[in-house]
Amino acid sequence: MDIEAYVPGKSGGPQGAARIFKLSANENPLGPSPEAVVAAKAAAEHLERYPDGSSMRLRQAIAETHGLNVTNVMAFNGSDEALALLARIYLGAGDEAIYSRHGFLAYRIYILGAGATPIVADETEECTDVDAILSCVTSRTKAVFLANPNNPTGTYVPHDEVRRLHAGLPPHVLLVLDAAYAEYVRRNDYSAGVELVASSENVVMTRTFSKVHGLGGARLGWTYAPAHIVDAMERLRDPFNVNAMAIEAGIAAMRDRRHVEKSVAHNSEWIAWLTEEFTRLGLRVTPSAANFLLVHFPEAAGRSAAEADEWLAARGYILRRVGAYGFENALRMTVGTEEANRGVVDALRDFLGR
Ligand SMILES: *Cc1c(COP(=O)(O)O)cnc(C)c1O
Repeated sequence: MDIEAYVPGKSGGPQGAARIFKLSANENPLGPSPEAVVAAKAAAEHLERYPDGSSMRLRQAIAETHGLNVTNVMAFNGSDEALALLARIYLGAGDEAIYSRHGFLAYRIYILGAGATPIVADETEECTDVDAILSCVTSRTKAVFLANPNNPTGTYVPHDEVRRLHAGLPPHVLLVLDAAYAEYVRRNDYSAGVELVASSENVVMTRTFSKVHGLGGARLGWTYAPAHIVDAMERLRDPFNVNAMAIEAGIAAMRDRRHVEKSVAHNSEWIAWLTEEFTRLGLRVTPSAANFLLVHFPEAAGRSAAEADEWLAARGYILRRVGAYGFENALRMTVGTEEANRGVVDALRDFLGR
């Protein structure tokens, strides 16, 4: 009963809005790769068959694309399944697991679900603070969960800092690098974690098809992990954890590099534009390396995030309230289509009377 159920981004809008733009769940505004849709439809013709329980062809497609050893790659029913499984395997009563003040709230659910105690590390300027995490480590610490870039802030931890975090952890502490937004990051000092996994025994990188690949509805994620962690996860995962349509959609999506590049280019262009426009409207924006922005509202009456949210929703723009993350007066907006992005800026200009 200590667990607060995860509240996903809203899908529907109020009655009356002519069109709904869902900008609340960091979905790809360009949709999935058309090739992934074709592949999923073809797989639907044979839904009487169980899927390949090892997801081998999908893992091969991932391994080839990312230059990884296929035996260290596993596929999951969303990266959420992998995160939950890691908590279930490595955490129990009396153990502690650390995440960051504004870290992804699913971690808290999985830590509590495993019977362990969540420890919340402070942040500096809405960014993960490596020293704060290290200062939380005790003899009971068993895992650290780090979303990089983080949701809902969009901030990221540079590669050197992640390495320093890893170097400061005792070897028995599992470091989970959740790189759900890795494809979007265009920074020279960022790394999703491949090198750290390959060169250590206590690091796991989790990835997803839900964001840049536009396959949130298919539920598909993957991990890159050392052999002994793969062995443990293989023993405890569901035997057919990835369904047949997700496997085929995932293979096609992984191979469609043009769609990934197009999606990243769209995001880079519009996140820069949105950041500039919001700033021009006098709204503070947390610098984001991902596909969403955390927008802070003034304290003035009639200008709050809650009121802006209602104003936008009435016009069909569904953003994400982030009070559960400690941001009472901010909204998180996923980069949308050109029409959605321009629409939100126009609506906020009216809302703020600028
Ligand atoms: C969206 C997101 C995920 C992806 O979860 P899936 O289960 O793969 O859909 C994981 N971590 C973070 C931080 C996210 O924002």
